[in-house]
Amino acid sequence: MTLPDLRNSMLAMTCQCDDGPIDCLKSDQPVTQFVPGDDQFRCQPRSDREVGLSLQKGTLSTTGARDAMLGKARSSKPKTGSRVRYSTVGTLRDNGFEVIHTPRKIANGTHVSVVWPNTNSVYDAFVPWPEDVTQTFNECFDEPTDPVDAGGAE
Ligand SMILES: [Zn+2]
Repeated sequence: MTLPDLRNSMLAMTCQCDDGPIDCLKSDQPVTQFVPGDDQFRCQPRSDREVGLSLQKGTLSTTGARDAMLGKARSSKPKTGSRVRYSTVGTLRDNGFEVIHTPRKIANGTHVSVVWPNTNSVYDAFVPWPEDVTQTFNECFDEPTDPVDAGGAE
């Protein structure tokens, strides 16, 4: 997909909040990033298919974040090794990213997208992110939670 196509598919996911999909997210809003199994936390969008990186509003447990990202599956246990880490909308914005509320059609949906650079607009979102930007993104987060054990306990 071309960059304009990627931006348009993000626009189609934006919320219907009264303030709009950027101003509806306040600086002190916590956000959670989830990674399944033993994978690394994603630190930039998959630039062949998306212009933003997915997080969830709130300080979610590993199970809560998994359910929010992937929907409740038959098994309620995240894969062994799954983790979450936390930041805030304000931290990401202060470090050059924009955070956009992108729940699709889900009322009160918690999905948000991080784009770069921070210009208060979806239309400037750019991929791929430069290397130093991916490092800055990682530095916006606290240390990850302990990995989920084989038994699935959080
Ligand atoms: Zn919103």
